Amino acid sequence: MARTITFRSNELEISKKVKDIMEDKFKKNGFATSDKLESDTELVISVGGDGSFLKAARDLDFPDLPFICVNTGHLGFFAEILPDEAEIDYFIDCYQRMYFEVNEIDLLEIEILDNEGKTIKQAINELVVRGNRSRTAHLILHVNGNYMETFSGDGLIISTSTGSTAYNYSAGGSIVDNRLKIMQITPISPISTNAFRSFTSSIILPSEDSEISIIPEYKNEATIILVIDGEETKLSNVRSIKTRQSKKQVKLLRLSDYEFWDRVYMKFLKTYDYKADELRRR
Ligand code: NAP
Repeated sequence: MARTITFRSNELEISKKVKDIMEDKFKKNGFATSDKLESDTELVISVGGDGSFLKAARDLDFPDLPFICVNTGHLGFFAEILPDEAEIDYFIDCYQRMYFEVNEIDLLEIEILDNEGKTIKQAINELVVRGNRSRTAHLILHVNGNYMETFSGDGLIISTSTGSTAYNYSAGGSIVDNRLKIMQITPISPISTNAFRSFTSSIILPSEDSEISIIPEYKNEATIILVIDGEETKLSNVRSIKTRQSKKQVKLLRLSDYEFWDRVYMKFLKTYDYKADELRRR
């Protein structure tokens, strides 16, 4: 039976080109390739940026299979491979020799209750709850059934440790070592006045036994915006949004030299000229 590699790529020309090159190389090494999940898919290769990986995992419904990301995007925090031939050859060799590790990434389970009933969603990075049409969001926050605050401001981010380097970090949240099992609640532009008072910094909770509940307090219109890993939905009459650790995980294949804090340094602090790199790749 053929060993199948499933490929997902974004619409960039470079991504399609890299996907074709990789498919060709895998086929020459005796693998079958597909754009869909097959019953014998053993690895999913996502070609693009982090956003492409988030979309691929969501579109494939978070399968119990390892993913590896090839960075043709901008940041590539999840990526293991750069899109050059030598690196692709090195990866295929490592893969066949099984010189890799598989990291399991915890997901958030998000339970949305509205007049229609319950909907369950999963997130790799985060859930964002915002007001509709840039209105102030008023959100009643409970942790494990305990009242915490009535937040007023632009919104709340509930981030995994994996998502801590994404929107959470831009909003002033902490970068968390991705071996830690936590959920981080980070306010976006909280109002802290005599009229409205909310925490102005992040709160970090153990994810294994915590449940975060948000009840929208509607003042003008009963509509809020939920953004899950960048996918936005406008919802009306949401009664509550509960977030906890999911039973599902996503697996990321790591070559043996992966180190989280090195990745943070390389992606956040090391000076890198994106424009020069883009010109070089043309
Ligand atoms: P996007 O353009 O796909 O992503 C925005 C930036 O976030 C990109 O540079 C992306 O990397 C990077 N990114 C995604 N996940 C990351 C992670 N875990 N660690 C570090 N960087 C990460 O935007 P989108 O489609 O709206 O949403 C996808 C994700 O982007 C969301 O889950 C959210 O975390 C993040 N986002 C950030 C902001 C912000 O920082 N103000 C605003 C909206 C969304 P690539 O360049 O490799 O794609």
